[in-house]
Amino acid sequence: MEVIQSIALLRSTLEQKKSGLGAALKAPVGFVPTMGYLHEGHLSLIKAAREASEIVVLSIFVNPLQFGPTEDLDRYPRDTERDLKLAEEAGVDIVFLPQVEEMYPGPVKTTVSVSGITSVLCGASRPVHFDGVTTVVAKLLNIVQPDKAFFGLKDAQQVAVVSQMVQDLNMNVDIVACPILREEDGLAMSSRNVFLSEEERRQALVLSRSLKAAEAWVREHVAFRAEDLRGAVKAVIEEAPLADIDYVEVLTYPKLERPEAVEAGVPVQLIVALAVKFGATRLIDNTILTLGK
Ligand code: AMP
Repeated sequence: MEVIQSIALLRSTLEQKKSGLGAALKAPVGFVPTMGYLHEGHLSLIKAAREASEIVVLSIFVNPLQFGPTEDLDRYPRDTERDLKLAEEAGVDIVFLPQVEEMYPGPVKTTVSVSGITSVLCGASRPVHFDGVTTVVAKLLNIVQPDKAFFGLKDAQQVAVVSQMVQDLNMNVDIVACPILREEDGLAMSSRNVFLSEEERRQALVLSRSLKAAEAWVREHVAFRAEDLRGAVKAVIEEAPLADIDYVEVLTYPKLERPEAVEAGVPVQLIVALAVKFGATRLIDNTILTLGK
């Protein structure tokens, strides 16, 4: 496994590796962008990339552009040594590990901004977040030029936003959406889970429980108003005294529009998405429901 910090060296290394491939059976380059502090969720993306590609590139970069001024950029967890060990074990070929100065050598004058679907959910609570995400993902895709890039549905809005960007800007890459990995007790894996106290960690289980409740609720209601489903999910979360709800929303996926009333037999894909703070730690989770089939 090679660990590369410079864009120029990454490009020449990839050129060299690609020229040695011959007639590749799989996609030549699979790319997994992350902010590090790797967990099983990240490793599942690497596994998907490993199965689909000849060369797997993992990036680890905590992107300052996607954090607001009052957010947790400074305390975002980092452990590069451990990350590199896990990446090597998972079969990564190249880790791209740039410094902030390599990615942003001067003031950022060009940004990529997707409108509409970025003004709801996390985009409403974190105003600069998605411009930061699309700008860094566009840069990383230009640098790595992968055939496939792997993203987790844990950040389902991010998958929708990045897919929209790739479509609108005719970027030559397949965006592959991968399922959410959870701890055995249901908590969605996240680098931020380490910040939870024992009691917060225990109460945070209400999130996955509320999404399970949503899945059961739609099985019992063939026709319903999205607002009623939202109310049912919210009621479960409010059972946890430490849960401080940022949002609970029911929207269509991937367009992220407010759904009309859901009717029996009319196909629709909905996302139940939530962001909830436990102490200083903001957690997100979601489930995607395919209805009417
Ligand atoms: P992050 O390092 O948090 O920016 O995440 C990097 C990638 O890993 C993103 O595409 C995330 O959606 C994905 N990811 C994070 N947590 C999970 C999880 N629990 N299951 C699946 N993918 C995840």
